[in-house]
Amino acid sequence: MASSSQPLVCPSCAEPHPLDARFCRLCNMPLVYAGSLGVGGAITERHERARKIKPQYAEGDLVRAAGAHNQAEAEFIQGLLLEEGVPSTLQRTRGFDVPDMPAAGPRDVMVPASGYAAARDVLLQAEFVSDERPASTPPARLLAGLLAGCAIVALIAWIGTELMG
Ligand SMILES: [Zn+2]
Repeated sequence: MASSSQPLVCPSCAEPHPLDARFCRLCNMPLVYAGSLGVGGAITERHERARKIKPQYAEGDLVRAAGAHNQAEAEFIQGLLLEEGVPSTLQRTRGFDVPDMPAAGPRDVMVPASGYAAARDVLLQAEFVSDERPASTPPARLLAGLLAGCAIVALIAWIGTELMG
């Protein structure tokens, strides 16, 4: 089997590489293990994926586009990105290694820098990332509410002492 001598594969063009290679010799993408792109060396599936990837989204350093709670969600996100032509690889989120459970733990979905904007668009539409607007009560209003609550409690206590006196 060819895949045993060339266990690495380019996530962009599906070119197989030997284990000592780090980047694709054709398009310079960081290489990933062939198994992570489709177990069993499904060449047709890999080519199908590679066909969808837009070369303009496959350039630059890997940057974190999203976080997933687990491997399944991460692969789902990868699928969404691939539909838009953005290649991606998964990394275990630092500090959350669970050695006994390879499929557990959060993942970072990494995309090439040139595909980052497109990836964020996809993920925003799919509501996998927030657009950084505060979702509910802003902290300032929350604080004001707390202070008002304290004032009322103080007022009641004051009225209480006045009545007692
Ligand atoms: Zn390549």
